[in-house]
Order: sequence, then C-alpha cells, then structure tokens
Amino acid sequence: MIKPSSSSDVQPATRVDEGGGSQGQGLNVLISLFAQLPGMGMRSARRAVLHLLTHRDSVMVPLSAALAKAHDDIKICGQCGNWDVQDPCSICRDSTREQDTLCVVEGVSDVWAIERSGAYRGRYFVLGGTLSALQGKDPEALGMARLVDRVAEDNVREVILATSATLEGQTTAHYIEDLLADKNVVISRLGQGLPFGGELDYLDDTTLASAFCARR
Ligand SMILES: [Zn+2]
Repeated sequence: MIKPSSSSDVQPATRVDEGGGSQGQGLNVLISLFAQLPGMGMRSARRAVLHLLTHRDSVMVPLSAALAKAHDDIKICGQCGNWDVQDPCSICRDSTREQDTLCVVEGVSDVWAIERSGAYRGRYFVLGGTLSALQGKDPEALGMARLVDRVAEDNVREVILATSATLEGQTTAHYIEDLLADKNVVISRLGQGLPFGGELDYLDDTTLASAFCARR
C-alpha cells in the first residue's frame, strides 16, 4: 500500500485530455457541472477539475467550504435586490451614501460594475431583468411597485435609469419613466458611450464613470 503524503496536493499523472475524454462517472458529473458555468466550455471544465484534483488541500477544500458558506450566508437585500451576507445590504446600510439618488439596473453584475468604477455614491434598485413577455417578466416580477414605494419612502430626488441599450432595456426604462411621471422626481439616463446592448459589466471603469457624469 502506498503511504499517503502529508498533503493531498499531488502532481498530475496525466495531461489534460483535450479530446472527448473517458473519465469515470463521478468525474464526468463534476466536469459537466463546471462546463455549465458562464465562459466555460468542456475543455476549460476539464482543466479546472484536473486543477482541483491536483490541488486538493490548497484549492479544492477551501473552494468547497467557500461555496457552502456562500450558499448558506449570502442573501438578496430586501431593499435593493443586491446580494450580501446581510439584509439590508452594506450599500443600503451605508449612511454616507446619498439616499435621495437611486440607480435602477437590470442585474447585480451591474451594481458590481458601477461600484468598481467608483463613479456613483447613491443607492440601487435591481430589477432582476427587463420587461419581456417571452420570458414572462411583467412589471410585478420586476418589483415595479416596490420601486415606486422606495422612491416615496426614501424621498428620492433623482432616479438614474441604467438599463441596457437593448430594445427590452429601453422599453423597461420607458415604462419606469411613465410609472414615475407624477412622482416629482428627476429621471436621468446614463450618457452616451454605452455600447448597444452591452452589459455594464463589460465596460471599463472610465467609460462607466463618464457615462454617469454625462447622464441626462
Ligand atoms: Zn441593498
């Protein structure tokens, strides 16, 4: 019997299989799960799994623990829809942020992108998508009533519509504009420079910052 080493990190005995692969059933399940992640194909998934198997102590165990912890601890903020370990989230709790400015975005990745740019010091409202009959997203599913309540409760003076430049994104922005038309609030949109249909996440920080400065 081979004596196990003190660390279960081991050097790979095989190269990453770039072809069809003939892994065991358990490995195939793991690889298939990885392949479902955004930006991952089967080849990247095999490489990732092989990396985990050869770095069990230093990568696989902490990653597994972090995933379990994230699953247990991270929740959706009841006020803005952001993800955080606390509800309300740290942005909603931050009293130094402007309470009277609300930026409406499609997804949490947009919040992260805007936060990275450092261009904005107000608060957010995450829609969780755009109005889409095809995907069954109606005003109720996007929490439009909550948005109207939030504007009233927080005495919001400006609502920045940062939905994407797609047809659905713009339709959603128009809908919100109509919804808030009689609410004594300034409605603005991010300035030009945003690529058509581009998610905010793909923009560099400078472009995003100037889009905020040039809002109209
Ligand atoms: Zn929040």
